Amino acid sequence: MPYDRAKQRSPHLDLERLDKQYIWHPFTQMRDWEREAPVIIERGKGSMLEDIHGKRYIDGVSSLWVTVHGHRKKEIDLAVSRQLGKIAHSTLLGLSNVPAVLLAEQLVKAAPKGLTRVFYSDSGSTSVEIALKIAFQYWQQKGSRSAARTRFISLKEAYHGDTIGSVSVGGIDLFHQIYKPLLFSSYKIDSPYCYRCPLGKRHPACGLACARKAEQVIRRHHRETAALVIEPLVQGAAGMLMQPQGYLQKIRELCTRYNILMIADEVATGFGRTGTLFACEQEGVRPDILCTAKGITGGYLPLAATLTTDEIYRGFLGEYRELRTFFHGHTYTGNPLACAAAIANLELFRKENTLRKLQPKIRLLSQELEKFKELAHVGEVRQKGFMVGIELVRDKRTREPYALEEKIGARVILECRSRGLIVRPLGSVIVLMPPLSITVRELRRMVQIVYKAIGKVTGTKPPPS
Ligand SMILES: *Cc1c(COP(=O)(O)O)cnc(C)c1O
Repeated sequence: MPYDRAKQRSPHLDLERLDKQYIWHPFTQMRDWEREAPVIIERGKGSMLEDIHGKRYIDGVSSLWVTVHGHRKKEIDLAVSRQLGKIAHSTLLGLSNVPAVLLAEQLVKAAPKGLTRVFYSDSGSTSVEIALKIAFQYWQQKGSRSAARTRFISLKEAYHGDTIGSVSVGGIDLFHQIYKPLLFSSYKIDSPYCYRCPLGKRHPACGLACARKAEQVIRRHHRETAALVIEPLVQGAAGMLMQPQGYLQKIRELCTRYNILMIADEVATGFGRTGTLFACEQEGVRPDILCTAKGITGGYLPLAATLTTDEIYRGFLGEYRELRTFFHGHTYTGNPLACAAAIANLELFRKENTLRKLQPKIRLLSQELEKFKELAHVGEVRQKGFMVGIELVRDKRTREPYALEEKIGARVILECRSRGLIVRPLGSVIVLMPPLSITVRELRRMVQIVYKAIGKVTGTKPPPS
């Protein structure tokens, strides 16, 4: 029953008021929130969301980068309800459960070859936290000369989650600055951000100068470094910064040459987002540790998996008294409901040929995005598969950014919302991340809404069509 009708029956159900009274929202200035009318989602189907008043929206951010085959996908609904008929939760500490076992095998088969062990947790942040601890402990146990490898190399502008370890290897000052006293320091390499190249070069004439810069850092610090952590191909939360072709492969080569572990954080890029199941595939890269979360359950339930090589796994084997055990585990690790959803998610990729069907939609999206380049305040349109960032600038010629206070991104997304599209900005970058299952019609409509909204908010008249 729509909430409005329910409300007529029980007038106490004032969800908007209750929300403002009781919820503290993530990444949200609550003073702003308290002043605005919140959108409260009640249901969804496919790429559409519906709020408590029955207003419908296209889910242009896949409910924060997680929805893969759409909402209320029959096969995943069924898998979860079937599992509910057996057991909702049991532990992986000292026991195992059926969906966790079956999913682990599927993940190893789907991941880049050579990643053979699955360590479960429940969010992207924990999957990275686990990767860091595994890398650290691996070297500690490897032998006295390796024990000096206690540090990490990460990229500027990186985002790896919000727990203290993952923030330590993060590089988004806006989010991370205040926690500095709590963090361990890591060695930073410049973010390959061609539109605002830190080296002032132009791609491809630069010949990947950024990778050579990265090598300098790695060469200087490799003896004390446990691992390098990177979001492959796309730095998502940084504003959809796309790495130039060949960069990731170069990083892999450097990690191998200098004998440091490579951690690929595929939390955002995994499960088809970039057009392949994992982003690493596009550069033929096999990381030593792979972090996945967001899309793993098709966007149904919180689950994460950190995959490692056999070599790393073996480094933790020994007699109990040697204390090589990986002393880490979250209570809901390997939750059967979430694992059942994840198995169904992977099955759908095979059964529905999701990745093949995605390719023409990726091309259509690129074509549709072409026209944004003519807008006076669109600095750059970046796309990798179904990850899109539209960077708005105050001055297109000088690339001068909008000031934070102008809240340009926030204004554009509010305009989109009134036109029936949910998206979220990252500062002045409008992010588009629709479910992989979005229809061609919905895709066109989504882009059209964003185009009009940007035109309206930035005061650019769309050219006559
Ligand atoms: C979202 C994200 C995370 C954090 O995941 P949570 O589930 O929010 O903890 C980590 N790394 C990347 C690349 C992400 O996009």
